[in-house]
Amino acid sequence: MELNKPKEFNKCPNCKHNEPFFKRLGEKLKAKGYATPTYDFSLDMKMGPVIDEKTWPKVPYGAEVPGFMFVTDICENCGTVYARAIMEASGKKSLDIPIPGGPRRVTGLGPIGKG
Ligand SMILES: [Zn+2]
Repeated sequence: MELNKPKEFNKCPNCKHNEPFFKRLGEKLKAKGYATPTYDFSLDMKMGPVIDEKTWPKVPYGAEVPGFMFVTDICENCGTVYARAIMEASGKKSLDIPIPGGPRRVTGLGPIGKG
C-alpha cells in the first residue's frame, strides 16, 4: 500500500483552539510512562480501501484500489469533532480470508470498520 503524505489540521475549524481532547489525555498518560512515547491518541483512526459494498466482491484480487486514512479528535473548547489528519493511499485487494461482518484488507493497510 502506497501512502501519500497526510494533510494535517492542527486547529479546530470552528474556534481555532489547538488542543484536541484525546491528544491531550494521551500526553498525560505518556507523562506517567504508561504509553508509548510516539503513540498518537485520537477519537478514532481508520484506514482501508474505498469500496462499494455491492461491487467489492467482483473486484479481482490484486486490483489496484484507492484507499484512505483519517484521524479524528474533539475540540476541548467547543466540542467540535474534526479531522486532525486525512491521507489518500492506494493498494491492491489482497487474498485475506473475509470474516463475516468483519473488516476487509488491502495489502499494507489495516482493517476498516464493516460497511
Ligand atoms: Zn473548537
